[in-house]
Order: sequence, then structure tokens, then C-alpha cells
Amino acid sequence: MSNFMELKINSCSENEAFARVTVAAFLARIDPTLTELSDVKTIVSEAVTNAIIHGYQECSSGVIELYAGLKERSVTIRIRDYGLGIENIDQAREPLYTSKPELERSGMGFTIMENFTDQLTIDSKPLQGTTITMVKNFEPQCVGATS
Ligand code: ATP
Ligand code: MG
Repeated sequence: MSNFMELKINSCSENEAFARVTVAAFLARIDPTLTELSDVKTIVSEAVTNAIIHGYQECSSGVIELYAGLKERSVTIRIRDYGLGIENIDQAREPLYTSKPELERSGMGFTIMENFTDQLTIDSKPLQGTTITMVKNFEPQCVGATS
């Protein structure tokens, strides 16, 4: 079974919740566990928030593209912005690194994305934007499960 969804949203902060809930609703058909669902909501939230805060510097007129593709029980989630981009990806991936300590960011977004997924890829070019691709494999469903 395969299926996909695409979403294009403005970079306003209200859209972070919209994106997270939309992906969760899309995944409902494979009956994820509450933990799996919560993990997916968290990683979408972290990546979209990064696009808003860092990519577009909190300017709400940027465009964020979100793709989720389902193959059997594996989902690929891609979140793209056309904002500032990342100069040093290795540094950005380090736990506790943030370029915005003044906003009291903790620098844990990428670490959380890495921990909650099976694969995390960051493509970014300064002044062109950033694409985050995450793959998450869901547990097989129990035989005879009713929900
Ligand atoms: P936290 O997520 O804990 O609030 P943070 O956003 O600073 O803090 P990460 O999400 O780990 O931490 O991101 C690390 C750094 O990578 C950011 O501080 C920022 O410099 C850079 N970064 C991440 N995403 C983007 C993006 N979409 N565009 C530009 N820079 C980004
Ligand atoms: Mg972050």
C-alpha cells in the first residue's frame, strides 16, 4: 500500500499546529501507536518551527512545503523552505547548538528529529533554503488487533 500528501503553507506560527495535525490525520489509516503518533507530531513541529524561525526569520509570508509519503508501514516526511539556509550543517546538527540563544532556543531540534526517526537528511544552501527529509518506520500491526 502506498499513499502521499502534499501541503503548501505560509510561514506563520499558527500553521505549525496545522501541519502537525494534518500529518497525524494522514497517518491515522495505518493505526500508529500513540507514541508513534506523538513522535511524528514532534518532528513535524520541530522542522516547521525551524523553517519559520530560522529559515524565514519569523516573516510570515514565506512558503513551506510539506510532503508525507507512506509505503506499507514506513513514512517519508519532507519539509522544505526557501529561506536563509544553513551555512554549517554539521554544526547545526550538534546537540545544544543554536544560532539564536537570545530567543531562548535550546538547540535540540535536530537532535530530537534524529532520535524520533530512523533517518534524517538535511540539504541546505545558504540563501536558497533547507530541505529536511525524515524516514520513520512504524511497528508491524499485531495479528488479530481490532484497532
Ligand atoms: P530548538 O529547536 O531547541 O528550539 P534551535 O532551533 O536553535 O533550537 P535546532 O532545531 O537543532 O535548534 O537547529 C540548530 C540550528 O540550525 C538553528 O539554530 C539554526 O541556526 C539552524 N537551522 C535549523 N533549521 C533551519 C532552517 N530551516 N533554516 C535555516 N537555519 C536552520
Ligand atoms: Mg529548532
